[in-house]
Amino acid sequence: MVLHLTHLLNLPGVIIDSWDSDDNSVYFHLNILAEGMKCHHCNSYTEELHQIRPIIVRDLPAFGKNVYLKVPRRQFYCRICQRYITERLAFIDWRRKYTQRYEENIYYQVNNSNIEQVAQQENLSIEDVKSIVNHVCKKREKAKNIS
Ligand SMILES: [Zn+2]
Repeated sequence: MVLHLTHLLNLPGVIIDSWDSDDNSVYFHLNILAEGMKCHHCNSYTEELHQIRPIIVRDLPAFGKNVYLKVPRRQFYCRICQRYITERLAFIDWRRKYTQRYEENIYYQVNNSNIEQVAQQENLSIEDVKSIVNHVCKKREKAKNIS
């Protein structure tokens, strides 16, 4: 466990278990602190872990390198509903492969330059950048409609 790095990373509910790096990137391997989760369907709590599939999520750059988080995507079993439920993390939107703060940052960068330049700078495809901008736009519209 890398306590100081976990503190620096500043993401809720996770700790950095270990890390490695190459010339261009740093990889943080995360562990999730919660033992279980609440079922989205019936709201009952379960700790019955069914499977873990690690996913790679891009986060804000650090030390001049791209940062990737290796996050365990956990699936639990709810005995009440008899369904498998996938855990959602507070800092990654459902089915996205970037942290929310990374997507916000890309959105901001595109507003101040253009998609092509941001794609090149971040080593993302044009489609990736467009998908991020659309996703953040939709979220903002939704938030506006609620408030
Ligand atoms: Zn349930």
